[in-house]
Amino acid sequence: MIRTNAVADRLRPFGSTIFAEMTALALRHKAVNLSQGFPDFDGPAAMLEAMGKAAGSGVNQYAPLTGLPELRRGVAHWFAQLGGFEIDPGTWVTTTCGCTEAIAATMLGLLNPGDGLVVFEPCYDSYQATASMADARIIPVTLAPDGEGGFSFDEVTLREAFKGKPKAILLNTPHNPTGKVFAHDELSLIAGLCIEHDVIAITDEVYDHLVYEGEHRRLAGYPGMAERTITMGSIGKLFSATGWKVGWTVAAPELGRAVRSAHQFLTFCANAPAQAAAGKALLEHLDTTIELRENMRANRDLLCDALERAGLRVFRPASGYFVMCDHTGVSRRLGIEGDRPDIAFCKHLVEDVGIAAIPPSSFYVDRSKGSPFVRFAFCKKRATIEGAIQRLARL
Ligand code: GLN
Repeated sequence: MIRTNAVADRLRPFGSTIFAEMTALALRHKAVNLSQGFPDFDGPAAMLEAMGKAAGSGVNQYAPLTGLPELRRGVAHWFAQLGGFEIDPGTWVTTTCGCTEAIAATMLGLLNPGDGLVVFEPCYDSYQATASMADARIIPVTLAPDGEGGFSFDEVTLREAFKGKPKAILLNTPHNPTGKVFAHDELSLIAGLCIEHDVIAITDEVYDHLVYEGEHRRLAGYPGMAERTITMGSIGKLFSATGWKVGWTVAAPELGRAVRSAHQFLTFCANAPAQAAAGKALLEHLDTTIELRENMRANRDLLCDALERAGLRVFRPASGYFVMCDHTGVSRRLGIEGDRPDIAFCKHLVEDVGIAAIPPSSFYVDRSKGSPFVRFAFCKKRATIEGAIQRLARL
């Protein structure tokens, strides 16, 4: 007998991730892939060589479950350098299979069934899925256009969310997909609410090195937050090696114990030779992130200008890999319709224009909130961006 419904209830609502779907469509239609957020170029050559050397010199078995010592030292260095503080890498750092596993291990290690989790939406789709795996209850707070070209949340709604007795808040700054860099007053508000309601903060800071306007601040660095914040990052984003799947959490030992309790049974450890090379890059090649940032800033400007010329309403991002646009004017002009307008627009883009982008409705709890938007990734070679710009003329 053929099973028709083998997927567990807790995962069925999420279908297959939009990132895999759009990258597959991009390949099928030979489109310029500005959908899934991965660079189409390599990170520092010295790091790539170091991975080969590590594999050639016997670093091929399980790493310690918390990660290789040199990687944990590197993470501690980066954490302190960019607005954190000095930590003991031995007890504070846990290495994971990319930030995506850090998110899953944190949810599963920390949350009991029914626990509330405050999440700013739109958000990376794994947040909702892993919260569901942990049987947690998402309390969404929406980031909406603020009328000044950016996105912001309503303070009253955030205060209400904390009254729902959440165990934790999951914050992503710099933010995917909007490019918002949470400002000092916003972080102070969040820190104050965490302390007042005894809530744990989980912060996904994978784009911390890619800030074009404003300044990245680590929530863990706010008064009273060091002991109650789990900060996450990754080599994938920092050194353009998303396929290496090396990420981490930085947390006070008791919170780190919760992460490790899940991580040890999810994957036990991340790729050992990649950890060795990543540790070297964090200790010796952080300067390469400056050139990366300047390249990405130029990509952002080129692509945003072209998207504006094509008639989209562009929310020029202050950070990160992505730009959100409102496609409704263009969709209306082209007569594009459907009950999921963002999906209909992206279908037109990939099939007829030759550009793959992400329809962001799956980044919202109430999917309809994402329907006016489309997300483009600009973490690409200049030639890729220029190719996309040429194709935009077909829109
Ligand atoms: N975080 C990346 C993005 O938003 C993709 C991660 C993934 O494909 N799992 O595009």
